[in-house]
Amino acid sequence: DSKRRSRNAWQAFTPALAQTQADRLWMETHLRRAADNGEFHLVYQPQVDLLSGRVVAAEALIRWQNHLLGELRPDRFISHAETTGDIVRIGSWVLREACRQVAAWRDAGLGIVRVAVNVSYRQFVGEDLAEAVQRILDEFHLPGAALELEFTERVLIEDAPDTLRTFADLREMGVVLTIDDFGEGYSALNYLRRLPIHGLKLSQLFVEGVPTNHSDVAVCQAVVGIARSLGLGLVAEGVESEAQRQFLLRLGVPIAQGFLFAPGLKPDEFARRLEQGGLHPSTH
Ligand code: C2E
Ligand code: MG
Ligand code: MG
Ligand code: MG
Repeated sequence: DSKRRSRNAWQAFTPALAQTQADRLWMETHLRRAADNGEFHLVYQPQVDLLSGRVVAAEALIRWQNHLLGELRPDRFISHAETTGDIVRIGSWVLREACRQVAAWRDAGLGIVRVAVNVSYRQFVGEDLAEAVQRILDEFHLPGAALELEFTERVLIEDAPDTLRTFADLREMGVVLTIDDFGEGYSALNYLRRLPIHGLKLSQLFVEGVPTNHSDVAVCQAVVGIARSLGLGLVAEGVESEAQRQFLLRLGVPIAQGFLFAPGLKPDEFARRLEQGGLHPSTH
């Protein structure tokens, strides 16, 4: 009957179905209200030094808590927000909130010195990103080095007229610049030479298969080689197992992130774990 059908349709609002026009409209309407209603929050995933087990930074990951849908992961709504342009407002909220949080942690003497924020390619168009970042750093009395910006190769393809200038300005401010999901996209090694970046994040896509899958091993070795010969930092993403950790350590990858250490944590949980002596896998 129709009542049951509509209830099922409601429950079946899944990523696969989010492609229909009605669902897209629904998503866009609620996304627009979400920022005003304070429905977003950030969780923080530690980046761990593989040799010492020390936490060197935290990546801020957005979550959307909706009273009807529960908690939504960014894969469900970021691309919608990029299409509508809402990502610009959401993105500046994320930047400010992450900086507020890392300033609080630094003031509390927690030993966490840097927060990494994901930046959409849309944030490089229009408003001056470097200027916006400087305003926020000033507001919280943070040095540029307290902030890391992760962007994907998409930024380089879109090639907004002021992108290179923005990168140069951010680097000048001491902000750490990193290419996220490296190897997944449209990697042209050419831009690695001309961009003033600090590091790469080895995509989870390849970390997943090591140490057993031969082609994933080969890609990881190649990325380590590229980072090393260009003098770039390297963070491995999506490390879930002890075997992966040991493989990456032997390969010379300095820093890793993944469920083996911790998922994204609420700020108080993050602070508690740090106080309890870090997040080395042998400690839990
Ligand atoms: P990302 O920046 O590559 O973030 C890593 C994603 O992998 C996160 O998913 C994280 O929870 C997940 N992850 C971490 N460790 C593991 C692991 O060991 N195993 C597995 N299977 N997954 C792991 P999340 O939080 O759902 O974020 C997905 C993507 O959404 C992010 O990928 C990023 O591209 C985007 N995103 C997240 N927050 C923001 C934001 O504030 N702004 C923008 N523009 N994009 C964001
Ligand atoms: Mg990221
Ligand atoms: Mg990534
Ligand atoms: Mg990703």
